[in-house]
Amino acid sequence: MTTIRENYEKILEIASKSAEKSGRKLDEIIILGASKTQPVEKLMEAYKAGLRYFGENRVQEGIEKIEKLKDFSDINWHLIGGLQTNKAKYAVKYFELIHSLDRESLADELDKRAKKINKIQEVLIEVNIGEEDTKYGVHPDKLEKLFEYTLEKENLKILGLMCIPPYSENKEDSRQYFAKLRELKEKLESKFKTNLPHLSMGMSNDFDIAIEEGATIVRIGTLLFGERNY
Ligand SMILES: *Cc1c(COP(=O)(O)O)cnc(C)c1O
Repeated sequence: MTTIRENYEKILEIASKSAEKSGRKLDEIIILGASKTQPVEKLMEAYKAGLRYFGENRVQEGIEKIEKLKDFSDINWHLIGGLQTNKAKYAVKYFELIHSLDRESLADELDKRAKKINKIQEVLIEVNIGEEDTKYGVHPDKLEKLFEYTLEKENLKILGLMCIPPYSENKEDSRQYFAKLRELKEKLESKFKTNLPHLSMGMSNDFDIAIEEGATIVRIGTLLFGERNY
C-alpha cells in the first residue's frame, strides 16, 4: 500500500513529463482529486500533500464534505458528476466550477439560481464524446447550439469542455477522443471569437495521454485515493 502523499507525488511526476511533451509546465495543469465516496480524512491527507482541487459527483455528498472542511478556505470545489435540474440551486451555492452542463434546461436553471445569489457561475460543457447511449453529455453535433444558448446567459460563464471517453483497457484508445474534444474547443473559440481556457479530460488510467492532448484539468480518483468501496 502506498500513501496518498506518495500517490500524489507520483501523479505530479507523470503530469510534469506529459506537460513537457505538450510544451507546457506542470503549474498550467490542475490536478483535481475525484473524491466521490472517499471519507474527508482521505481528502485531508491529499490536502496536506498539497492538493487544492477536489471534484465531487453528487451534490449532497459534496456539500457534506464542503461543510466539514470549511476551515480550509483555499480548497477549490468542483462538481464533476451529472447534475439533476432540481439540485442546481445547491450546486450553484457550493461549487466554484460545474463540469457537467449538458442541456438547455439545466443552463436555464443554473443561470436563474446564480442570478438569485448574485454569482457568475463558471461552467464546462460536458460532451458525450464517444456518442454512447449511457453517458451524460451533449452529443457533439448539438454542442454548438448549446454553447450559443449558454453564451446568452448573463450569470453563466463557459470556461471550456469536459468529457469521459468510452472505457478501454488500453489508454491509447482515449487519445482520439481527447484530440476530438480539443478540436471542438478550438472550433468554438474561432467561431464565437472567445477564449476557452479549460479542457477537463483524463482520469487515473489515461491522464498522461489527456495532458499530452491538451488537458488543463485532470480528474483523478483511484490512483490518488485508492480503490472506492462500491
Ligand atoms: C470517478 C470519476 C473520475 C475519476 O475516476 P478514476 O478512474 O478513479 O480516476 C473522474 N471523472 C469523473 C466524472 C468521475 O466520476
